Amino acid sequence: MTEQSLGNVQAQSVGNTALENNCAAVLSIADTVRTTLGPKGLDKLLVDELGNRFITNDGATIMLSVKTVHPVAKLVVEIADRQEEKVGDGTTTAVVLAAEMIKEGNRLITDIGIHPTLIVRGIELGIQRSIELFKQMAIKINVEDAGLAQVISTAAGSRMDGGQVVSLVSDALGFLKKPNGKKGMINLKKSIFLINNPMLDDRVFDGIVIQKQLFGQQIPDNLDNTKAVLLKIDLKEIKESLVKEMKNYDEIVRMKERQTKMTKEISDSICETGAGIVFMASAHADEQLLANLLEENVLMIHVSNEELLNIANTLDVQVVRRKEDIGEISVGTFKSVYYDEENGLFFLENHAQRKMVTIIIGGVTKVTSQERWRTVKDGISAAQSALNDGIVAGGGAVELCISEKLKEENSNSGVDSIGIEVVAHALSGIMRQILTNAGFNGFEKMAEIKNKSGEYGIDISTGKEINMFEAGVVDSAGIKINALKSAAEIVKAVLRIDRILIAHSPHNAVIGKSANETNFNDK
Ligand code: ADP
Ligand code: MG
Repeated sequence: MTEQSLGNVQAQSVGNTALENNCAAVLSIADTVRTTLGPKGLDKLLVDELGNRFITNDGATIMLSVKTVHPVAKLVVEIADRQEEKVGDGTTTAVVLAAEMIKEGNRLITDIGIHPTLIVRGIELGIQRSIELFKQMAIKINVEDAGLAQVISTAAGSRMDGGQVVSLVSDALGFLKKPNGKKGMINLKKSIFLINNPMLDDRVFDGIVIQKQLFGQQIPDNLDNTKAVLLKIDLKEIKESLVKEMKNYDEIVRMKERQTKMTKEISDSICETGAGIVFMASAHADEQLLANLLEENVLMIHVSNEELLNIANTLDVQVVRRKEDIGEISVGTFKSVYYDEENGLFFLENHAQRKMVTIIIGGVTKVTSQERWRTVKDGISAAQSALNDGIVAGGGAVELCISEKLKEENSNSGVDSIGIEVVAHALSGIMRQILTNAGFNGFEKMAEIKNKSGEYGIDISTGKEINMFEAGVVDSAGIKINALKSAAEIVKAVLRIDRILIAHSPHNAVIGKSANETNFNDK
């Protein structure tokens, strides 16, 4: 163990085997999730410290749930988290790709003595070229194409109740495509609203649903063709403390009068629009406004900012944000408003145009309902990504083709060919892993594929060669490209670190631990 000074940070080296330790850390995470890759991947039972259990085969969920202490393992989890945030799918693919590259990179550095910088440069080039090839091979699609439903079913089909979930997402798309539905490019993440609740039955609702328990408020029965107004005005009450400070009672009375007058003006303006319902997202619930509106049989519902924006989006109306704008309130109409008292849900049904639909996801328990919610989210993310970036053959077929192309082109890449070869090796690992998880010998099966056009792979049920497009196994090109980029980040970080230093800085910057200390169940 050696002491050295890094600027004003005293650092202690814990050895030169950082690369091997870090590799082992990444590989141990990868091994936890690689068996979940693909439709025949196995499930994991997660148990938390309170003894809560749940079953999932979603790589991202597993990685985010297990406890990691190793700094590099943490980095992998972070990158996986970002992939999940950004594209919503492809996390296991990213980690399997990273692990394959790191395993091979480590072998070249440790056993053969090649300099890490050289390998990393080749890997960067290989990844760049692969991304170009993914883009070239991607087929553009729109909402009408059958490919979209196939992407959804490939992304969600293998998961819990996949088939049922796929039909929910397809139904939601069907609503958006109907006459008067959204035109042009659809932003699915903004158009499809998700609610999960084990008390409810699965359904797609043509409108939006707000979760709200109302106490003591009478909801009128007939709320067909209800006009709605959206408010986000802060009507601050006159504070007690201010009243105490001020000696001038006349001034206080005048302030109160001004406020009462303004509240009256606001409620009058709202009533003039013929609105039956007001959605309000403000921190202060103004009692006076509520009372004025109630007197005129106008319902006021407090909602969150996000809910207010969703309502504004679906009605295509402006939110009233300033008192000065109260003269020109824009009003939208719902076909109907229905309150489900038992479950505390407002169903706001779309009128002529459809900008948002809601998927209600039930489940036997809270846990299954959440897992099904994640599956729906994956389906929607994959569909969105496919609309943006096009589709490619799934099951590792396109990766295998790109791997072969990289190898072919590699003969004149000079020293960079070593790193490019590492990328090629990792890409072919996707199909190998999917086949292994389906109970085949991945190496043997892949040797049987003659047509390397990027469309052919192995049917995981029969073990026969099939055209993936014809079989409906298609993925979004964007998710694959992002997975590759995420993997590259992990690989570069791991292969370039040659030493772990324990920093005695106030921030406790870097804390090295050997891979053996990476304890997923650490409390
Ligand atoms: P990720 O977290 O990377 O999305 P998944 O477990 O969802 O991991 O697996 C995705 C991979 O499984 C994709 O490469 C996809 O093409 C493949 N896949 C999905 N369905 C099939 C199928 N029926 N046959 C072969 N491969 C499939
Ligand atoms: Mg997936």
